[in-house]
Amino acid sequence: MSKHVTHWIGGKPFAGSSAEQRRADIADPATGIVAGTVDLAGPAEVGAAVEAAREAFPAWRDASLSARASVLFRFRELVDRHSDELARIISAEHGKVVSDAAGEVARGLEVAEFACGIPHLLKGGFSENVSARVDAYSIPQPLGVVAAVTPFNFPAMVPMWMFPVAIACGNTVVLKPSEKDPSAAVRLAELWAEAGLPDGVFNVVHGDRSAVDALLEHRDVKAVSFVGSTPIARYIYATAAANGKRVQALGGAKNHMLVLPDADLEAAADAAVSAGFGSAGERCMAISAVVAAESVADDLLERIRRRVERLRVGPGDDERSEMGPLVTREHRDRVAGYLESGVREGATLAIDGRTHPVLGGGGGGFWLGPSLLDHVSPRMACYTDEIFGPVLSMLRVPDLDAGLELINANPYGNGTAVFTGDGAAARRFQNEVEVGMVGINVPIPVPMAYYSFGGWKDSLFGDSHMHGTEGVHFYTRTKAVTARWRSAAPAGGGAVGGGASPSAAATGSAAASPAENGGVDLGFPTSG
Ligand code: NAD
Repeated sequence: MSKHVTHWIGGKPFAGSSAEQRRADIADPATGIVAGTVDLAGPAEVGAAVEAAREAFPAWRDASLSARASVLFRFRELVDRHSDELARIISAEHGKVVSDAAGEVARGLEVAEFACGIPHLLKGGFSENVSARVDAYSIPQPLGVVAAVTPFNFPAMVPMWMFPVAIACGNTVVLKPSEKDPSAAVRLAELWAEAGLPDGVFNVVHGDRSAVDALLEHRDVKAVSFVGSTPIARYIYATAAANGKRVQALGGAKNHMLVLPDADLEAAADAAVSAGFGSAGERCMAISAVVAAESVADDLLERIRRRVERLRVGPGDDERSEMGPLVTREHRDRVAGYLESGVREGATLAIDGRTHPVLGGGGGGFWLGPSLLDHVSPRMACYTDEIFGPVLSMLRVPDLDAGLELINANPYGNGTAVFTGDGAAARRFQNEVEVGMVGINVPIPVPMAYYSFGGWKDSLFGDSHMHGTEGVHFYTRTKAVTARWRSAAPAGGGAVGGGASPSAAATGSAAASPAENGGVDLGFPTSG
């Protein structure tokens, strides 16, 4: 039966209010068959979602920290209990295998767990006696309505990098997930409601550019978190900032894995295959370029080839499958096009995924098996472009210096990894590489929730990474308070550093001017 996915506003499904409701198809990538449709929001639906979030904000902001944390704990338990169901929803629309989808739910859950500690994370600073009887302190306060715009490749994890922290900080959220796989976001909204989150604190609008533009232009949206491709990230950053919003926009990637001659080549080959072809290479932390020391490149390639021959490609819900299809036919064809352009530009097609067998035959699905282009040079399109599919490019370098130079010259800076048995080489790599997230003998790990996630250079526009303390920082603004309380006791009651005038003390005035202090300078600026 064909499904229909609609928005979630004010704690319930919202069927839309546009005169002409636009819709998009949702495909099953394993069969190519249209499995349903999703409503596409225009300014009217976005306006309704922002209004619901705006109305919910004051009460949620004022909810006690323990009340907020309790809702987060319940949400965490519900997501955990429904993780298999969520994984199947993701797999059906994205195409990734169910075990991989379960992994993304688990990584998202870690952020919810991190956000359960919000009472600790929202502690401000306090300085006692900055002057006589004057204290200064800072309070992190929520921003208001915040928007989250997310990509197709992690329909649960990437939104969960954002909204648990935003909500825990006291904000209300409008999420615009990818229109390619929208159902996970709605299921998460239902789980929030079940967890006791007040209506309007978490809303979902589906849509394309029109919905995103309406969010970027809405005066009640205070901040925008975005994850997606670099051209759109750049656009989101510029437009949101021009509209006076706080913005963090994470972009695309070209992740290099440098393999030095003293590396454990078995471990390196395992890493290249799992991080290159897991989720069909549709991961922002996927390995895209294998940069091999010339002396071990042939050996490494043969080890990768042996593993690829055994790799089972098939539908995401087939338990035997290790890699699923790509998300759409257009994307599959664009990725396969790099195999042809790479060969035209002089690379060698060492592994051709177009002939890789598919469990069950593949039917009309969007299939492309694991592929490897060898002897790639930095000028080729398969190297300069983000492919975002199961295609590894192998580049050969003489040594660590050349590897570092190549990686640092690349405009992207999301993740990278080095494989080596030499601690000094690894330490130098970690120190000098111009990339935001680094793996050492680990294929580009997504940082734990209590560290922050984010790249450098063209992989990030804005100042803050996601989750961890940077996430708390992004979703709060600091208020600095300077306070003086004087005793209501009669004058002469132990004033230090300049006594208040009898009249000020008698009236309980909290702030006395220098004149009221008998012309005594407190040594503390009370204005300006
Ligand atoms: P995308 O940029 O096409 O879309 C991302 C979001 O932006 C979606 O919600 C989409 O509806 C919206 N969008 C698309 N075109 C738009 C436009 N013209 N104006 C406004 N909004 C628009 O990305 P995608 O194809 O969904 O996801 C894959 C990309 O995301 C890859 O480039 C990948 O590297 C990147 N990504 C990056 C990270 C990271 O952490 N840096 C994580 C995951 C994915």
